[in-house]
Amino acid sequence: MPNHSRMKAIVQKQRDFFNQGQTRSTVYRIDQLKKLLAAVKVSEDAILAALKADLNKPVFEAYSTEVMQITTELKYTIRHLKKWTREKKVPTPLELQPARSRIHTHPYGVVLNIAPWNYPVQICLIPLIAILAAGNCAVVKPSELAPQTSRLVATLISGLFPPEYCTVVEGGVEETQALLAQRWNYIAFTGSPAIGRIVARAAAENLTPTLLELGGKSPCIVHDDTNIQVAARRIAWGKFLNAGQTCTAPDFVVAQSRIAGRLVDEIGRCINAFYDADALKSPDYGRIINHRHFDRLVSLMELDKIVYGGHADRDQRYIEPTIIYKADWDDEIMQDEIFGPLLPVLEYEKLDTVMDRLLDRERPLALYLFTENRALQRKIVGSLNFGGGAINATLLQNGNKWLPFGGVGTSGMGRYHGKSGFDTFSTTKSMVSKPTCIDPSLPYPPYKGKVKLLKRLS
Ligand code: NAD
Repeated sequence: MPNHSRMKAIVQKQRDFFNQGQTRSTVYRIDQLKKLLAAVKVSEDAILAALKADLNKPVFEAYSTEVMQITTELKYTIRHLKKWTREKKVPTPLELQPARSRIHTHPYGVVLNIAPWNYPVQICLIPLIAILAAGNCAVVKPSELAPQTSRLVATLISGLFPPEYCTVVEGGVEETQALLAQRWNYIAFTGSPAIGRIVARAAAENLTPTLLELGGKSPCIVHDDTNIQVAARRIAWGKFLNAGQTCTAPDFVVAQSRIAGRLVDEIGRCINAFYDADALKSPDYGRIINHRHFDRLVSLMELDKIVYGGHADRDQRYIEPTIIYKADWDDEIMQDEIFGPLLPVLEYEKLDTVMDRLLDRERPLALYLFTENRALQRKIVGSLNFGGGAINATLLQNGNKWLPFGGVGTSGMGRYHGKSGFDTFSTTKSMVSKPTCIDPSLPYPPYKGKVKLLKRLS
């Protein structure tokens, strides 16, 4: 069947199933999430193997950033779903009395979830948990660039759910475009800002709401009062995890000029310690997803500014953790998101100049700040806008289910993780209900003399 008709049939089946109303039941939703939890636990080894095959993900990274995130999210959602779905009582103003006011949640309907390749299991399943928890049906489109994980997610889901409730469509651009041409009730997309625009355009056709989880250049500011050893270790970890292919990785470092040189040396020492002085042979270092991204990254290496690393092996899609110092705001590497293990380090004299630069740029997905100075922490967090971040740490905001996750401006819109995901994929219905035994005459004509009374009540 040609793509368009195939996708149309999938969506129609899901819409029919959704309209039958089964997914409105909280018990039904919890049962499905429990099935998913059990399946993820059983498939743990297969998940780790697929991530190894696609990205050479070390078991520790694959477990902590994918499997564990998914099972934690599932357990938390299962535990709290009854409370989240309960109607919420709110006060009713005097002029509307007698009445009761309540907020009900309701699923949107049929939801499309498009995922990228860098955390290919986690970013398929964590939005899916929220989509199903909110009572929707779902179609998941994993990234074709991580083929082993795409296959695995498809097998996992098809073994668990009937396709009219939840299914996976594998494929690339053509399949995604055929999916985007359908009428959805919600679209969740995680990927680049460029494709995010395509998704937003397709969604606008039917005024479909979207969750856009995009990327950008996330800065890491290091002030001169910081503990350099600790900062270096935390930056090196956040940057070189998954070979730099993390949406919230510190894209570049801007360090106060008095400490920048020492910081660079210390990051170099951390890289040696992490990967036993040879990342190529280390079992703890990932690979670049494909040759296109490998070539893109190699073309960004500013040879005369490389002070650490710089080796690359195309056959193995290996790029050594690399530090580029002293990078400049106008360098090519400082224009677009790097999304690889190249770390430009820039220097600054006065923090205000850095803030001006950042205010001029697109809003990033994350911002990291290393300083002990509380006033400075307040100033940066209060003056700049970004999706989320950390002080004296990197990446940690991603792993806290109590923190809504998402971007701002070109780094995205909307939030998920924990309760915020349930809220995103649910609509709310505001309902007032009145008794019929009494019916005060205040709202009805004739209005003569009633304005005064209204003023007194409001
Ligand atoms: P991408 O935008 O190239 O692809 C994402 C998805 O879109 C894939 O499923 C792909 O099949 C589909 N796609 C690609 N081209 C398309 C087209 N022309 N029309 C329709 N669909 C198309 O992103 P990627 O390379 O997979 O991932 C890297 C990007 O994702 C980075 O920018 C990164 O920052 C971002 N990202 C963001 C988050 C987040 O949570 N905010 C998480 C991970 C990755």
